[in-house]
Formats: sequence, C-alpha cells, structure tokens
Amino acid sequence: MSACLLGKKVRYDGGSLSVNNQVLERWISEGRIVSVCPEVEAGMSIPRKPAEIVDGSGNRVLDGKTDVVEKGGNMVSDGFIAGASVALELCKKFNIEIAILAESSPSCGSSLIYDGSFSGHRIPGMGVTAALLRRHGIQVFNQYEIADANKAIHATSA
Ligand code: SF4
Repeated sequence: MSACLLGKKVRYDGGSLSVNNQVLERWISEGRIVSVCPEVEAGMSIPRKPAEIVDGSGNRVLDGKTDVVEKGGNMVSDGFIAGASVALELCKKFNIEIAILAESSPSCGSSLIYDGSFSGHRIPGMGVTAALLRRHGIQVFNQYEIADANKAIHATSA
C-alpha cells in the first residue's frame, strides 16, 4: 500500500493522505499491510519537486518512450522506475497479489494521472509503479476502491 495513504508524510510536499476505512483498519490490525513509497525508496527527498509524466503514462515510461519530468524540466524517469522496482520486489517477497496505491501520482496512480502540463489537469492513465505491478499480474486499486480490493482478496483466496 502507498505509504502516504497510511499517514506517512512522504509526499512531494511533505504531507500525507488519510484514509478512514474500517476494512483498512482491520487489515492493519491483522498485520497484513506492507507499506512502500516508491519515490522515497528510490532516494528522492521529502519534500521534492512535483513531477508528472509527459505524453503518456507509466507503461510508456517503462518502455523508454516518454519520461517523468520534474517541474522545471529535470528528467527523473530512472528514479521512478527504480522505485517501482522496489515495490515489485516487495510484492514478490511477501507474495502480494493486491496493491492499493494513491490515485493520480506519477508513481502510484492507477486510473488517473496529471497530464504533464503542471496545470492540474488529469487524464486517464497509470503511474510507473502501478504499470509495473500490473505487468506482473498484481491487481492495483486506488484508495477509493478498498471495497473492490477486499472482494478481490476473497476471490483470490477462495
Ligand atoms: S510515490 Fe506513491 S506512496 Fe510515495 S508519496 Fe507518491 S503516491 Fe504516496
């Protein structure tokens, strides 16, 4: 699960996102949650400059067809791919089949991402970590889809 959704202050602006959800609280109390911030795992600072994927989404970054760019123009694709790889290794280590990642992030977004213009406009697409996990068969949900993730857990364990 994205660390920022668990209240960890790892976002680019030094903040976190809070999720109040009884199912999530149960998972935490059962010790079933593995937390990761791909960007911090890749060595990025807190805070850090905002970054967006230009011209496409996470799959195109993984394929080397476009880049993640910081506000100001610095290309940071390598760090985003490295962070995604850390998340994937954690999934393999703990046999994780389901991820809940923060929507709209250039790493963690699974349905929507910002369009690369730094104007606050979002488009359909995935971040780099969400794309890499999905390529390896991991089901990715966002923080608004915890009920769906719970159903998927029961389906995979049935
Ligand atoms: S990379 Fe993911 S976990 Fe880290 S702050 Fe961004 S959305 Fe949260």
